Amino acid sequence: MSPDFVQEPPELHNQYDRDRVLQSYARRQFSESDLKTIEPELSDLGEKAGGELYDLQKKDIGKEPTLTRWGPWGDRVDEIEVTDVWKRAEQLAAERGIVATAYEQEHGAQSRVHQMLLAYLFIPSTDMYGCPLAMTDGAARTLLDSGNDAVADEAVPHLTSRDPDTFWTSGQWMTELSGGSDVGQAHTTARQDDDGTWRLHGRKWFTSAITANMALALARPEGNPEGGDGLALFYVPIRDDAALRDGIHVNRLKDKMGTRKLPTAELELDGAVAHPVTDDLQHGTRHIAPMLNVTRTWNAVTAAALIRRGLALARDYAQKRVAFGDEIINHPLHQETLADVQATLEGTFHLSFRLAELLGATETGEADASEAALLRLLTPVVKLTTAKRAVSATSELLEAFGGAGYVEDTGLPALHRDAQVLPIWEGTTNVLALDLLRALKNVGSIAPLNREVRRCVEAIEAPTLTEAVRPAIHAYRDAAQWLKQAINDGDDAMQAGARRFAMTIGHTLELLYTARHAQWSLHTEQDGRSAEAAQRLAARQINHIADLDPHGAYVLVWDFNCPTLFDCHAQGDGATIEEPALDSLTDVM
Ligand SMILES: Cc1cc2nc3c(=O)[nH]c(=O)nc-3n(C[C@H](O)[C@H](O)[C@H](O)COP(=O)(O)OP(=O)(O)OC[C@H]3O[C@@H](n4cnc5c(N)ncnc54)[C@H](O)[C@@H]3O)c2cc1C
Repeated sequence: MSPDFVQEPPELHNQYDRDRVLQSYARRQFSESDLKTIEPELSDLGEKAGGELYDLQKKDIGKEPTLTRWGPWGDRVDEIEVTDVWKRAEQLAAERGIVATAYEQEHGAQSRVHQMLLAYLFIPSTDMYGCPLAMTDGAARTLLDSGNDAVADEAVPHLTSRDPDTFWTSGQWMTELSGGSDVGQAHTTARQDDDGTWRLHGRKWFTSAITANMALALARPEGNPEGGDGLALFYVPIRDDAALRDGIHVNRLKDKMGTRKLPTAELELDGAVAHPVTDDLQHGTRHIAPMLNVTRTWNAVTAAALIRRGLALARDYAQKRVAFGDEIINHPLHQETLADVQATLEGTFHLSFRLAELLGATETGEADASEAALLRLLTPVVKLTTAKRAVSATSELLEAFGGAGYVEDTGLPALHRDAQVLPIWEGTTNVLALDLLRALKNVGSIAPLNREVRRCVEAIEAPTLTEAVRPAIHAYRDAAQWLKQAINDGDDAMQAGARRFAMTIGHTLELLYTARHAQWSLHTEQDGRSAEAAQRLAARQINHIADLDPHGAYVLVWDFNCPTLFDCHAQGDGATIEEPALDSLTDVM
């Protein structure tokens, strides 16, 4: 090899035109006439994502937002300067209606899907600008659902504007030093002046996209009880023009592992003016739930989008990088590796967009009660499953670039570091697994999930796909049986198994949705690639329901020796393991 050798870098092209999964899904989801209007928009954004925005991202590598706390004459300014990608992203997000599309509802319930397809293209080229957009979207939904017309009329037209000059973004201020999962521990108080004005006092520990114009915040009106029920939901206008309003101070920006373009602040609230969103000055955690439904859907779409970005680059690179006398894409084992990530992408994509479909149907009133309940059940499942997939897939994708994947100025490590936030914010994996159990309790039945599984199974006809989904059917049946047993065994057993249960449901649906799409694609497009992806997903562990003794976890975590466990393992309990019969689904449904 010449000593002057220079490696050709990976390139992106039009991120819609080159995305088979995205195009195929859009064809399945939209009528021909709707697709005619949507497709040019997607293709144009795909061009920007792989062109102008990607070029800007490369120039922006290493740059970070800055906080200037003091002005030249001693005045407290707390000015935040974001980097070029973010400046462009804010303008483009408004113009392209990345939030607005969901509220203009030109395609009814499908408008959510339309919007999320735009977001899917936009997110990976704008360095997590999806975070403020998710919260903006969530705030619009929450205010519209709140019944508070005054506040909704003031803020929603800005949150859903297509004009960059009038477009607002929103933050969500919940987490405090004392608790993020357990926000009921919040200390921020709300006090009322004599003239009736509410003011907030306290510290918010993680407030992302502090460049926002407004926030929805949780605070405890003085005299309210402890715990989550004692919190109320407030609308906080953050800025007058560019300047922060009185009573809001940025103590510092977080020095984070990833999402480094996203200014996440620690805030001091010292009399910030706020407006109650609901007449009920309690139950803030319940009143902010619409925000979380929306942001968790964004989280899932972001997971798929980050995997897709890494894969698009890795596939291009594999055609340029030569090892052992051939482009690495021609080495069977490298092909296997990328194919496996492609299967992950397809599963993650279909899980995320199923959630978007249900969200759209529910908010336009087109969902029946069972679908609305399904949305409630699937939101935690899809968020937690896709987030974990994004972390493992982006790790694999960095490796696909060898050493280059570990070097900062390629821009690649940021993909994995950004993905690592997805299982943490908007509810950790454990918190969401427990939320699924809470949702099942509220819904009062597993029937909406049963129906969903059945719908998928019934849509699948091709023998290879029927065979491929068998492990999912088995896993689902075991999960349903575990639930029945755990309800009898009590709260500790339920909690200990919650993550395994949620993961089993997530991986079951991931396979079923991929197989259902594969069936459509085989039939309509004569394309067997999604079926190949489904078969790969079927070969993975889907069933995470294992009969593990919670006492074993206690022993391991506290590091106690436990002779009784030794006896149990050494001698066995004499039970024989029966081969599971491949029954129909009816016995659990
Ligand atoms: C980059 C970034 C940006 C963020 N932006 C915002 C923002 O804009 N607004 C905002 O309000 N918050 C924001 N957050 C905060 C985020 O939502 C919280 O960090 C998250 O919800 C977890 O809360 P915590 O940090 O208090 O962790 P903890 O609640 O202390 O969790 C610690 C561990 O305990 C586990 N755990 C907790 N409870 C249970 C339980 N009952 N059973 C089993 N396991 C449990 C968790 O799963 C976790 O693994 C942001 C966080 C990050 C990293």
